[in-house]
This record gives sequence, structure tokens and C-alpha cells, in this order.
Amino acid sequence: MLRNGLIYTVDGLRSRGEALAIKGDTIVYIDEETGIEAWISSHTRVLDLQGGMVLPGFVDSHCHPSAGTIQLYEVSLVGIKEVAAYLKTMRDFLEKRPGLKVLRGMGWINGLFPPGGPRKELLDQVAPHIPALVRSEDGHSLWLNSRAMEQAGITRQTPEVPGGVIERQADGSPSGVLREKAMELAAQVAPGYALRQHIEGMRFFQEQAHALGITTVFEAGMLEWRTALQARQAMAASGDLKLRCRLALEVPSDADPVMKAAEIADLRSMLKNDLLKLNTAKLFMDGVIEGTTAYLEEPYLGMGGSQGKRLWEPLKFHRACQVLDQAGLQIHVHSVGDAATHLALDGLGHARQANGFRDSRHALTHLQQVRPEDIRRFGELGVVAVPQPYWFVVDENYQQALELLGERRARRQYPMRSFFNAGVCVASASDYPVVIPPDPLVAIHHGVMRCLQGMEQVPGGVLWPEERVSVEQMIYSFTRCGAYANFLEGEIGTLEPGKKADIVVLDRDLLSIPPQEIPEVKVRLTIFNGEEVYRSPAYEG
Ligand SMILES: [Zn+2]
Repeated sequence: MLRNGLIYTVDGLRSRGEALAIKGDTIVYIDEETGIEAWISSHTRVLDLQGGMVLPGFVDSHCHPSAGTIQLYEVSLVGIKEVAAYLKTMRDFLEKRPGLKVLRGMGWINGLFPPGGPRKELLDQVAPHIPALVRSEDGHSLWLNSRAMEQAGITRQTPEVPGGVIERQADGSPSGVLREKAMELAAQVAPGYALRQHIEGMRFFQEQAHALGITTVFEAGMLEWRTALQARQAMAASGDLKLRCRLALEVPSDADPVMKAAEIADLRSMLKNDLLKLNTAKLFMDGVIEGTTAYLEEPYLGMGGSQGKRLWEPLKFHRACQVLDQAGLQIHVHSVGDAATHLALDGLGHARQANGFRDSRHALTHLQQVRPEDIRRFGELGVVAVPQPYWFVVDENYQQALELLGERRARRQYPMRSFFNAGVCVASASDYPVVIPPDPLVAIHHGVMRCLQGMEQVPGGVLWPEERVSVEQMIYSFTRCGAYANFLEGEIGTLEPGKKADIVVLDRDLLSIPPQEIPEVKVRLTIFNGEEVYRSPAYEG
């Protein structure tokens, strides 16, 4: 029983209540204080909300919780903005782990290095004797030291990998960075994590998620997916899984889509737990702008006319969409560039034509450059847009986009309002671990303000202000749209009698404070399936 609060239901009428009663894992009452007494018995636990705001638990519609394992066992460079500090962080990490056999890490930013990326010699300074492999923040590039290059057998003679890039010096020798498919060349250098480590990683993520009010995640691809999936199954079986997880498996462009569809459908029927379902094929249409691998309609500036890379042949992609759609799967496409999104929509349109209408809820994510006429097609095809509002800011990534795209395109990155206006379901997401912590309140701020906190008055500090959305729309995006995107609207996404009690309690009302202050709002309480899974130390309700 929660009382004395502002309950924002996110239902059709956007109604508000003052009190909410939960029985078991289900919401049984929402309304005024006066009706609540009938629900209180001697066994009822009553929580005083002290005027806090109650929302449906947040849905993160594209993230990678298996990176919790990485957070626990690898060096993180996330949030560091200088190369010298990268080196120091890695040195400190190694000093504390003298027996380490491989240095693994993540989080460097392309923007801090020349276009060819960082050099292996730089990493040798930190780790001269063991192999070192450090992924970029976006996960699309891998920085290796000389020892790792040796062990992977990558030399001047190594041929280019289709769908990938081996960065090279003028003489053809590898300079230190592998991108996209070429990253697989280093796969044998670092062994996989154990089941125990995957379980600990997932627990670690789950704790972070609960502290941020997140109760449902779409896992858009898992690190070492077989072990990661086992870890989730083990947690679900023991009752330790306290997040609704919807999973995806990657379908690479060189795989046979028929085989892959069958594999995913098999796993789908094997998973019996309500918290754990797999129904999605994840496809990559392109890479990222910072790595000049996103596929663009117009060339990058200063890159010899390159438009980046599409990772699928259009006809092959059409066929894959048709096959996956026919198997009843959701298709979730990584699509950053405008040309990539155009092709992805073509493929989904083809599947619709070939297979007929189905409530398919396919999705495109990232959507950094989008042709205005394609936004309408999302609506027509019923395709869900999954943006990461965390990135709707002017920062070092923006500076790099400015160099690579020029001002006209850089100013028009990441549409959001246009999607809402076209009637598209817009389900927001963090892409954790690209964003750590994956705090929906920060994303709500960025979606509304389209700038870093405090930058709204700085000239040029706001990214494409015409695409700002309202606080209500951002809440809607993180709750109801997220539920819809994952076929969960019957269970969660709004606060209504009969729905699962996935609930977040905030210490302030997001709709009555200036949006600039939203990042300072604190989560007081998170309830999952009727069970309290997080309580802020400061809350005594
Ligand atoms: Zn992702």
C-alpha cells in the first residue's frame, strides 16, 4: 500500500491518483486517499510517499546488461576525457592485479584520437608484457597492444576483413585498432568469462538498474550469449532475477537467416519463465559516425568521398527480414546513418509486403541521421523508434560529428519530436554500457532540454531545439512505449488495477519542477512484481 503521493498512471487519460494498493505482485487499487481504507488490513504494509511521485517502473528498450560482467572484471575508461588519464587508469588497474594474464577494458572515445584511432605503442607503455584489448565506448572498435596483435596473428600481410577495418600505418602494418567485423580477429586472445562471472555481472547490473528505477530491459545482444543466457536462466530458476528481460540474438549478415530464425525460435520455445523471453533478431545495418562506419546518403567530409559502409546487401537484407518476420520474430536493427535507416525500412517494408500485415513491432535503434521522409515510413510500417536521448547533447561526440558531417548535418542529429508527431512508438533506451549509469532521469532531461545540464543558455549548446519533447512524452517513452515495444503492455507500462506492480517512487514531481532540475531528482523506492527491490538510504517512508 502506497499513500500520500502523486501517482501518475501514464494510462490513456494520464490520470493521477493519491494512493495505490498492491496485492501479491499485482496492482489492485489506484485512486484517492478516501477509498484506500477498505484495502488496509492488519497485515497491510503502508508506505507514506511523503508527496513523492509514483511512476510505472522504467523500461530500458535497448541495453546490454551482460556488460555488468565487463564493469566488474575490466578496466573502464568511460567518462575519462584525456588520453593521459586513460593510461593512468589502466596502470592503476594493473597495479592492483599483479597476476592478470590479459588486460581487458572498454570506454575510450574515438574523438580523442586521430581518425586512424590510437596506436598500439601507446598501450604497450601500460602493458608491455601481457596482451591488452580495450574496446571503444561505442563497442565498434578495439584497441590492441603489440602483444595482443602478435597473439592474434595480425600482421602487415593480414588481408582486410569484409565488414571490418584493420587500421594501418603507411607501410601497411597494423597500427593498433580493429573496427567492426575485424574485431573478431582478436577473439582467441581473450578467453570467455565463467558462468559464475556472468551471474555476478548480471547481479551487478540489476542492482544499478533498481537504484535507477528500471524494472524491464531489452537486452539487445549479449556478450558471450550462451553463458550469459545460462546465467539468466540460473537466476530466474533461483528467484534472483528481478528484472523483466527481453532478449535478442544477433543475426550477422554472413549467416543463413533460415538457420538463425530456427535457432532463435528454438530458444524462444525453450524459455518458460515469464521474466525471461527471447523473441528478437538483432541486425546491424551499419556502424557509427565517429568511426566513419555509419552508412550515409552524402559522403563524410574529408574522407575521399566515403559514405561509410552498409553491412548488408539490400536484397539479402530483404530476404533476411522476410524469413525472420515469417518466423514471428521481432527484428531490431542497429541503424545510425540516414542511408542505413532507409535500407532498413525498405527491408521491413518488403517483409510486410511478402508476409502480409502482422503486429510485428520491429524496431530501429540509434537513428542519428534520418531523412525526414523516412520518419513517416516508421509510422506507416508500425516500426518502433528506439533512440538514446542520453546522446542528445553537444559534447565531444558532437564536435567529431561536426568535423565528419559538417554543420548542417551535425545540427540535425537524433530527431525525437518528429517521431512522436508521426505517431511512431518511441521507446527510449540507454545502450548501456555506452551510457553508465543508465539513468532514465538524465535521459528525460536531455530529451526535454536537448543539452547537457546548464548548457541551455550557452550559444550552440543545444542540439536541434525543434526536436525537444515534453516531460510527459519522455515519461511515456520510458514506460508505456517501452512496454509496447516489448509486447508487455498487458502487464506493465502503466499503473492500473490488474497490472504487475513494477513501480518507481521519485522524491519530487517531475511535472511540477523546472526540467533543468530533473537530473537531481532521486529514486526513493523501486518495486518489482510487488517486491521492494531498492530503497534509498535517505527515505524512511
Ligand atoms: Zn547496443
